Amino acid sequence: MAVLARDGLKVKAASPIVESAPLGPSLRRYANAAAVIKTSLAPPELLAALQRIERSFGRRNAGRRWGERVLDLDIVLWSGGSWSSTGLTVPHVEFRKRAFVLGPVARIAPVWRDPLTGLTMRQLKFRCARRLTRPRPLPIGQQR
Ligand code: ATP
Ligand code: CA
Ligand code: CA
Repeated sequence: MAVLARDGLKVKAASPIVESAPLGPSLRRYANAAAVIKTSLAPPELLAALQRIERSFGRRNAGRRWGERVLDLDIVLWSGGSWSSTGLTVPHVEFRKRAFVLGPVARIAPVWRDPLTGLTMRQLKFRCARRLTRPRPLPIGQQR
């Protein structure tokens, strides 16, 4: 988390690190964490600062989403609510489906509400966990 404390970013809270299996084609496991950052930067400027930090860790943009990388810093939520501009959507469009995001986020911001669904991070985490464990319905003709 110390890596985030630069370029006008102040770390107000940091979650423990949680390990997860990779998404997509990469083979390595990931270490996930979330932080609450205080900054006067607007969301696109914050994203640029996060991308500078990624590059300083040797991340090259090979254009392969979900490829192997040493560091991936995303903006999950913003205290200002929703943001949408070219190349940036906040809340992060996929975060409600990702247990590896919701776990750490719910640790540091359990009652923060998602502006889109109105649900708290804790509620989203439980909803996501329920969906992951519920058996999927089988197609007609293949009933259990
Ligand atoms: P995912 O977005 O599914 O987590 P990723 O983080 O692996 O995928 P990247 O290759 O790191 O994807 O980023 C792809 C682009 O996503 C970035 O160049 C950025 O412009 C855009 N983007 C849109 N919304 C966000 C956000 N909330 N946080 C970070 N990047 C975002
Ligand atoms: Ca990501
Ligand atoms: Ca990213």
